[in-house]
Amino acid sequence: MELLKKHLMSRRGFCLCCISGTAMAANGWLSPNEAFAEARGIVSLIKDSAATSPVLTHKLRNNVSVLEGSGGNVAVLTGPDGKVLIDAGIGVSRPQIAKALAELGPEPITHLINTHWHFDHTDGNAWLNSVGAKIIAHENTRNRLSQVQRVEDWDYNFLPHPSGGLPSEVFATERTLQLNGSTLALKYYGPAHTDSDISVLFRDADILHVADTFWNGIYPFIDYSTGGSIDGMIAASDANLAETTDRTVIIPGHGKPVSNRTELKEFRDMLVAIRENVAALKKQGRSRDEVVAAKPTAAFDAKFGNFVIDPSFFTRLVYEGV
Ligand SMILES: [Zn+2]
Repeated sequence: MELLKKHLMSRRGFCLCCISGTAMAANGWLSPNEAFAEARGIVSLIKDSAATSPVLTHKLRNNVSVLEGSGGNVAVLTGPDGKVLIDAGIGVSRPQIAKALAELGPEPITHLINTHWHFDHTDGNAWLNSVGAKIIAHENTRNRLSQVQRVEDWDYNFLPHPSGGLPSEVFATERTLQLNGSTLALKYYGPAHTDSDISVLFRDADILHVADTFWNGIYPFIDYSTGGSIDGMIAASDANLAETTDRTVIIPGHGKPVSNRTELKEFRDMLVAIRENVAALKKQGRSRDEVVAAKPTAAFDAKFGNFVIDPSFFTRLVYEGV
């Protein structure tokens, strides 16, 4: 636990998605009780860390910025209609986020879009709503935030949000917003990282926030408990490639927050190659542990294996879906 603590505390902006990767890297598969204790401890660690981590602002273009340091990467559009946030970060980061937002201009916060239901993207919903943000999301995000959610790989139960933290406007496939002279196109991926993921395209600025379908330069978490799968992640990556050009600025859910199509393509090709390797081994009848031992991610570990979803945990996630 001490090592784990150091590992987690050393990183700014780590997320709940990363919990079981770390727990399992240290201990293999934990018993349910052990994992529950670990997860509860790590939720506290994440909140403690988010409470003190700085939030950095990266200015992009056309009044769009990205805030880094509280859970998933948060995009902000400013203008006369008020600030529009893509994702909420973690609640205890409120002082740092409020300060970063104030430095972007005096406008009130009027809109919040959740890219999916996970804690590290929605924990700040209630405070942002309390200062005036209308919350918009896919209908599955509201459904999941309205009820207890069990994430099997974390062996953890998340409690429902209070009503102010729930999206008040939801959609099923697509939604377009006109705000601050910009067109925002919201689009549902279908099941990918969860069953609630959407992309947000700032059409005029040519900036695409791709939720947790893209972890820039690191292995991703895939939440099978709430509808995610490796094939869904690959399909979402293909959709992201189809939606972008070399000029597009891409905001990943996690990892270096200002990205591009070249990095996105590398991530997509990594997913496809590892899926093929794991599927071939599984087809030979090998067990999950035998597949992990065969190191099907080896060619990619130096580049993608340095964050908290480590090579063996990522292999288990892929194995589950092929
Ligand atoms: Zn997530």
